[in-house]
This record gives sequence, C-alpha cells and structure tokens, in this order.
Amino acid sequence: MPMNYKGSHLYFGKYKVETLAKKFGTPTYIYDLDLIAQNIQKHISAFHGNVGIHYAMKANANPQILRLMKKKKIGIDAVSGGELLWALKHDFVAQDIIYSGVGKSSEEIELALRKNIKLINVESPAELIRIALIAKRLKKKARIGIRYNPDVSVDTHPYITTGFRENKFGMDKSFLPELKNLLTKNKKHILLEAISLHIGSQLKNLSPLSEAILKTKPVYKEFQEFGLKYFDIGGGIAIDYHDDTESPPSFVEYGQMAQTLLKDLNCKILCEPGRALVGGAGALLAKVEYIKSTPFKNFAIVNTGMHHLIRPSLYQAHHRVLAANRHQGETLTYDVVGPICESSDFIAKSRIISKLEADDVVAICEAGAYGFTMASFYNLHRLPKEITLYKGRATETKPMLIKDLL
Ligand SMILES: *Cc1c(COP(=O)(O)O)cnc(C)c1O
Repeated sequence: MPMNYKGSHLYFGKYKVETLAKKFGTPTYIYDLDLIAQNIQKHISAFHGNVGIHYAMKANANPQILRLMKKKKIGIDAVSGGELLWALKHDFVAQDIIYSGVGKSSEEIELALRKNIKLINVESPAELIRIALIAKRLKKKARIGIRYNPDVSVDTHPYITTGFRENKFGMDKSFLPELKNLLTKNKKHILLEAISLHIGSQLKNLSPLSEAILKTKPVYKEFQEFGLKYFDIGGGIAIDYHDDTESPPSFVEYGQMAQTLLKDLNCKILCEPGRALVGGAGALLAKVEYIKSTPFKNFAIVNTGMHHLIRPSLYQAHHRVLAANRHQGETLTYDVVGPICESSDFIAKSRIISKLEADDVVAICEAGAYGFTMASFYNLHRLPKEITLYKGRATETKPMLIKDLL
C-alpha cells in the first residue's frame, strides 16, 4: 500500500503528503505509476505472458497512465466513442482496442469500424443487426465478440453486478438460437471471434467468476464453428479498501483459475482489468475547510466530495481517510463531508481519524479507480488536479478538454 506513516507524517510512497499538497494544492488526485507498472507486470506473469490484457480505461483515463499501459504492451477496453478516440490520442493503435458497452450509437459503431479496431463486444441482437448494416455500407467485415450473460449472482454492491439475468448487460442463453441465425445470415459482414463475459466489479472471491466461465464454456463450443479465437473473461477483480483486513484474489490465483478452466478450449484468453491495476495506486488529497461539531456529530468539511469521488455516495463505498499530519495522536469520530448541496455528499461517515483542524490535509485512499473519471462539475466546482508520480518525478496532467471527446 503506498500510504504509510513515518512518525506523525503521512507518506505516499516516498513523497510526503503535506509537501505534495503544498506544491500542487488541493483537491488533487495523485497516482503512483511505479505501483501501476508493478501491477501490470504481476498480471502478465500470472498468465505466463499468455493473455491479451485490455485495460478498462473507464477506471482511470489519465494520459500518463494510458501511455504507461501502452509501453507495457497492454491494450484497451473502451466503452464509448470518446474513450476510443482518447485511447488513439494516447499512443494506442486500433488493433489494441476492444469496444464494449450496451448502448453503442451508430456513429460510435461507424467510428470503430472505420478505425478497424480489434473487436466489438456485442450486447444485443439489435446491436448485431446494426453493426452488420453499417459494416455492409462501409464494405467492411466487423470482428465481434458475443457478450454472454452467464446468469451468476455476485457478492458485491448491486449497482456493480453485471452478469445476473436481471442486469442489462450481455445476452443470456435464451438469445443463443437467434444469435446463431443472425451470424449465419450476416456471414459476409460479421466475423465472430470472441465469447466474452464480465460479471461485475470488486469481486472479492473467484468462485462466481469460475462459475461464470464454466457456464460459458459450452457456449464457446457451440459457436466454435464460426471461427472463434478468444475467450474474454472480462475484469472485476477486487482491491482492498480496508488496509489488509480483506484479502482480494491475487493475480496469481486469478491467472491459475482462468488457465486451468480454459485449457481444453485451445483459445487465447483475453481479460479486461480496470480497478485491480489502478485502484490502489491513487489517492485524493483534500484540505479541511471547517470543523463543525454539533451535539450529534463532528463534521470535517473538506474541499472535495461526491463531485470528485462519487463512490461513497453511489455505492456506500469505503475509502480510508488519513490525516497527513497526526498532530498529537488524539483521535475523534468524524463525518467527512464535502461542499455540495446534497446530504448524500459525503466521503466517510462515523470514521475514527486523528484529530483534525481547519487547513489540515487529508488523503482519501485507494481512489485510483472510478474517481476522477466519474467526477463532475456539479455546483460548478472545478475538477481536481491530477498528478502522476513515476521514477521520482511528479508530473501535472493537463486538464482534459471536452472537445477531445466525441
Ligand atoms: C468496467 C468494465 C471492466 C473493468 O471492471 P473492473 O472491475 O474495473 O476490473 C471490464 N470489462 C467491462 C466490459 C467493463 O464494463
């Protein structure tokens, strides 16, 4: 874990948090790229190099992080035309990119086909028909994957399960006859290369994923005649948000499980990790504006909130909040809240933290995934800065311009 105390001072790797906050201001996301590089290496080794890793860039689309991914020879899983263009703008080539998501517009599909990306993961028969029509008009052959919904339930927050029959994602077994017909009818413009699944995020154990893979294998066999090459097992591996009290699956366990289960299929394994590569490598630094103590609560009102890190409000997610300077070591119980005019605007509730004062800096930990990418301009606050730390150098990220997107 990058956050550690030396005496009363908090360090992010070798950087003193108070110094970073002073130099760059707050609110600021900081990312440890050396740690991300290590995570990538562990992931690759766990599969003995025998895997196509496509980083789910919706977790964190920071340009320096994307360039690091490219340097480490891994690809991208994009979920919009905007992400596709953003990946191309940051060193990736079309063949590195898989495109997933339930609501692809005609413009986005046309972009993917014109650029000739590696694979489009299809989520409905209607989408397959749309892709075939656009491919025909462009005189192209679309390479696709079928996103299968294996109908497994997962022990994670209901908003982040995606492989249960009641979720909007993928196609369950009732779709298979129709898909076979459509693939046969559209052979000239559609080439089926992958069966894909992605059952959810923050998966704390591997059994739902292995169940999903086992339930999807017969589908792979059934569609093999269409020219399948890839079995895409999605992403979803959890990280530890509680400082070593949980032990999420390791890359090694994950790799072993997938390779053992898929050995007999003779396929290339693809996977789409997001959170597991970047989540633990980021933190959001903020400043305490005010302390407000009522007969019921101590509020630490900070200069960040749900507009910069929505996970606590959206998923009741836990993020550790650590004081950059522990002062005398006294602790108090706080609700750490932001400036937004919503009672759902909180970072942590009833949390024991060392005693805080106005102007103190706090680090909101494990915020490298689904932090900045989910940030908004709500209440017209500016977005946080982003700083990457790599090989002893701190680099400030240029603010993203909306015109860069689709
Ligand atoms: C979000 C997403 C992922 C990544 O999920 P993580 O939990 O961040 O690993 C992978 N594949 C698809 C299709 C996704 O939508």
